Amino acid sequence: MSDEQPISDESSAALIERIRRLERASRALDPGSGRRKTLRNAVMASSERHLRKLHGQKGYVAGADQGAGVLSLPVARAGHDLADVIALYEREVVQPGAHPSAPSHLAYIPGSGLYHSALADFLAAISNKYSSIFFSSPGAARLENMMVRWVADLVGYPESALGSIVSGGSIANLTAVVTARDARDIRGGDVPRAVVYLTTQTHHCIQKSLRIAGLGEVQLRYVATDARHRMRPDALATIISDDRAHGLLPWMIVATAGSTDVGAVDPLEDIGDVAEREGCWYHVDAAYGGFFLLTAEGRRLLKGIERSHSVVLDPHKSLFMPWGAGVVIVRDGRALVESHGTSGHYMQDALRDDSEISPADLSPELTKPFRGLRIWLPLMLLGTQPFADALEEKLLLARYFRGEVAKLGFEVGPAPELSVVTYRWAPPGMPLEETNALNQRIIEGTHADGRVFLSSTMLDGRFTLRMVALSFRTHKRNIDMALRVLHEQLVRIGLVERAAAQ
Ligand SMILES: *Cc1c(COP(=O)(O)O)cnc(C)c1O
Repeated sequence: MSDEQPISDESSAALIERIRRLERASRALDPGSGRRKTLRNAVMASSERHLRKLHGQKGYVAGADQGAGVLSLPVARAGHDLADVIALYEREVVQPGAHPSAPSHLAYIPGSGLYHSALADFLAAISNKYSSIFFSSPGAARLENMMVRWVADLVGYPESALGSIVSGGSIANLTAVVTARDARDIRGGDVPRAVVYLTTQTHHCIQKSLRIAGLGEVQLRYVATDARHRMRPDALATIISDDRAHGLLPWMIVATAGSTDVGAVDPLEDIGDVAEREGCWYHVDAAYGGFFLLTAEGRRLLKGIERSHSVVLDPHKSLFMPWGAGVVIVRDGRALVESHGTSGHYMQDALRDDSEISPADLSPELTKPFRGLRIWLPLMLLGTQPFADALEEKLLLARYFRGEVAKLGFEVGPAPELSVVTYRWAPPGMPLEETNALNQRIIEGTHADGRVFLSSTMLDGRFTLRMVALSFRTHKRNIDMALRVLHEQLVRIGLVERAAAQ
């Protein structure tokens, strides 16, 4: 305790007495089995309360004070009551805002929060296994590498591929950008001449990754897209040869396999042809769409993904994991190691054993959570089939929604390639500004209602509504609820008669 003498002034008996006293005083950090049971029961009861309510749970809860009550319990020398703390968490943290674990979350890219993965996270945290270094934790390192290998096989990469499980798509894309930079030896002086090819549908984390990687000054070429917002390979080929003719350095092509905005899948095979011919690094961002490879439709759509040099898939999106899992894989794994391999004097024992590559050598992270377990446990217990079936169901739900929302009188976007549907209220002859304002009123009305969570985007200046089905918990009844809520908004705003539909 702070008011005692400095340690150096004490006799050894007093020192030992003080150590004993501190051991007793800090015992709360290591609860015995009785206290563990109390804690566990309280946490489990809270999680059960949450899960049992999920089917009727609003997708978005517009709250007055938006969780400000969190601040009412300060961090203090002494802890607070368990029941009070759990109640505050449920009231102030779980309730307000979006509900990514609820089947009514149909906005942005929905999450899910697979229960088996939550339990795996618990197990991983309890053993606190260090999956980063093979020497420390050979089983965990093998398991993590095995999960990456499973994803690499799904993509169709050769044996040479290596990859890493990071926190999400942003860090996964950053890891790929850094690898591509080093593999193509893009140094300071080359940066202003180096060109990256992308589209307006490319996720903004790519530009962020370039900046973080010291490549903020590269040339960005937004390649023209077709009516479905997909990169046009002919336009890509033309710009690249133009750039070459002007002495620039065509470096990297970023294709998207399932854009966040509209679910567009770039023509991966044709872009692969251009990349190969032009000698560009070919990166595919499949953070959202990647695991649709588990379905026959997805494999058809993502054909050519295996030709890329690097790829990103987010298990916390289309594999339904709780937030905190993105996978990056590099076809020629040596490039990933060259950019991310580690050393350090204090790690000399660990570095001597090279019978299995250490995940830390494939990632910007050293100490990291044992993320492999949250992918492994559900795959071990459930196999891949339920994942494939749930994803196929989402593809069909998107098609169903598009048909039904058109019946309500909405103008619909192109048939969804994956599970994003775009639509808007667009009476013929109405000026764009008015149409945009009307669609904004519709989406704001749905947010105030909250029974389902929908979102909007701007496409070529048009305020456009989106519906994304991705949670394994989202089923037809949730889509029907979305249709009912939209119809009610049309009635509320006076766009249709009450009796018109539903
Ligand atoms: C979500 C997403 C990202 C970013 O991934 P995070 O996991 O949110 O960091 C990147 N690219 C695409 C296509 C995405 O959908």
